[in-house]
Amino acid sequence: MSRENLVGRLPSELEDLAAALGASRYRGRQVATWIYRKGVFDLEAMTDLPKDFRERLALGACIAVPEPERVEPSRDGSRKLVFVLGDGSRVSSVLMPDDDRMTLCVSTQVGCGFECRFCLTGVMGLERNLTPAEIVGQVLAANRLLAPGQRVTHIVFMGMGEPLANFAALVTSLRILSDARLGVGYSPRRITVSTVGLVPGIEKLGRENLKVNLAVSLHAATDQARERLMPVNRSFDLAALMAALRRYPLAPRQRIFFEYVLLDGVNDTPEEARRLAQLLRGLRAKVNLIPFNDWEGAEFRRPPLPRILAFQSVLLDAGITTTVRWSKGEDIGAACGQLRESVTA
Ligand code: SAH
Repeated sequence: MSRENLVGRLPSELEDLAAALGASRYRGRQVATWIYRKGVFDLEAMTDLPKDFRERLALGACIAVPEPERVEPSRDGSRKLVFVLGDGSRVSSVLMPDDDRMTLCVSTQVGCGFECRFCLTGVMGLERNLTPAEIVGQVLAANRLLAPGQRVTHIVFMGMGEPLANFAALVTSLRILSDARLGVGYSPRRITVSTVGLVPGIEKLGRENLKVNLAVSLHAATDQARERLMPVNRSFDLAALMAALRRYPLAPRQRIFFEYVLLDGVNDTPEEARRLAQLLRGLRAKVNLIPFNDWEGAEFRRPPLPRILAFQSVLLDAGITTTVRWSKGEDIGAACGQLRESVTA
C-alpha cells in the first residue's frame, strides 16, 4: 500500500486529516508548521505531537521531499539541482545567488507542450504535470541544501514547463508557499509566475487573488513575428493577451514583467523595440531582455552586445523600465531555456 505524502497538502487539508484520525485540528496545524515552517521531514522528530497520533499518521501517510540526484555548481555561483521523481523522470531547479538575494527557479511540468522554437525544453514535448508535492518539494529541498542561516528568498516559476497549464497544482503550491502562518511563509511579492501567455489561465490566476507577480514571455511585438517563435500565439494573439493583461489586478506599485528573448536578426531591431514600447503603452510594465542562450541544434544566435544595448535604450527612452538579464548557469545547462533533464541525464 502506498502511503500518502503530507508534503503538498494545504495546511487546511492537514487539519482535516488530523480530524479524520480522531485528533484535534490543532494537530494538523502542528504538522504543517513542522514540515513547511521548520523544514522537518521526520514524524519521529515532531516532538510536540502525541506518540499515538504520530503512529496513526505514519500508518497512512509519509513525508517525501525530492532528493537532488546531483547538484551542479556553475562558475557564476548558481547551482542546478537535478531531481529524480518517483516515476524516474527528472526535473531541475536552479539556485541563483545575487547580492542579498537567493532566487530559486522551479519547474512545474516534466517537459513542456508549447514548442517555443528557441527553447530546449520545448523540444521534449510534455511528459506530465508535477504534483504540488513535487513543486513545493523543490523549494523545501533547496532550503535544506543551503548552509545554515541561508534561505531561498525569491521563487520564480521559470523552470521547465508552463505553470498555467498545470493550474490546480500551481495554485495549491502558491497557497502553501505564501501562507504566512502555517505554510512556507514567502511573501507573494517574492514569488513570480511566468507564462507563455495563456489568456484563460491569466484571468483565472487574477481571480485567485494570490498577489504573486506575473511575468509574460512576449518575445515579439507583432502577431506575425510572435507566431513564428511561439505557436501558442495562434490560440491567444497579442490583442487578446494584452487585453487580459490590462485587466489583470495589480497591487499598488506592482508591475507586470515581460520577458523578451533577444534573437540575432529575428526580433532585435530598433523598429521592433519601438513596436514593443507601443504595445506596452499605459501598462505598468517592466521588461527583462534575455539574450538568447545557446543549445546544440538551435537555429538562433545571441545578438552582438551593441544591438542588445541599442534595443534596451529604445525602451528606456520610451520610459519603460528595462533590464538585460544575463542568464546564470549557462555553462551547466541551467540557463533560461536550457533545461532538458529527462533527455540528457
Ligand atoms: N513556460 C513559462 C515558464 C518558463 S520561463 C514561460 O515561457 O514563461 C523561461 C523563460 O526563458 C521564458 O521567458 C522563455 O521564453 C525563456 N527562454 C527559453 N529558451 C531560452 C533561450 N534559449 N535563451 C533565453 N531565454 C530562453
